[in-house]
Amino acid sequence: MFELPKLPWNPEELAPVISAETISFHYGKHHQAYVNNLNNLIKGTEFENLSLEEIIMKSSGGIFNNAAQVWNHTFYWESITPKPISQMPTGLLAEKINRDFGSFEEFKTKFSQAAATLFGSGWAWLVVDKDGKLSIVQEGNAGNPMVKGLKPLLTCDVWEHAYYIDYQNRRPDYIQQFWTIVNWKKIAERLG
Ligand code: MN
Repeated sequence: MFELPKLPWNPEELAPVISAETISFHYGKHHQAYVNNLNNLIKGTEFENLSLEEIIMKSSGGIFNNAAQVWNHTFYWESITPKPISQMPTGLLAEKINRDFGSFEEFKTKFSQAAATLFGSGWAWLVVDKDGKLSIVQEGNAGNPMVKGLKPLLTCDVWEHAYYIDYQNRRPDYIQQFWTIVNWKKIAERLG
C-alpha cells in the first residue's frame, strides 16, 4: 500500500505564488486520488509488492498513469520551497546549465516555453542523461522521462489543476512565478 507523502512545507507558505486553496485540492484531492487509485489497481496483481519506480518502469495503462502521477507530484512538491536559498543554481548545476543551454536565462526561457506550449495536460522537465548532459523534455499527461532512461532534476506541473484557481487560463503567469519558488538546493542534490 502506498501512502500520500507529507508535504515538505506548510500548505499556506507558497502563497501568493501557489495558494493554500490550490494546495488543498492539488495535494489533498488530486495527489491523494492517484494514491488511492493506484492502491486499488495493483491489489492482487504482479505490481502489488513493487516499488513505485519499478511499477512506472514496468506498467502501462491505468496502473502506469496513477503510479507516475503519484511519483511526479511528490517530485514536484520537493522541487519547490517557500524559502529558496537563491533564485538561480550554483556550483556544478550552474556550470552544466551554462554549458548545455548557453546561460541560466536561456535555460529559463527554453524551459518556460516547453511548459507553456505543452498542449493539454502534462509536465515540463529538466533531465540529465547517462553522459551527464542536461536537456528539457515535455511529457503529456502522466509521462515521466525515467522511462526513457533520463534522470529527472526539476519538473513543473502544467495540468490546469496546478494553476487554475490562482491564475485561471494564464499558464505563462504561473510558470513565471514558479521560478521564484524553485528549490535550487534540492535540484543540485538530485544532480549528485
Ligand atoms: Mn498535478
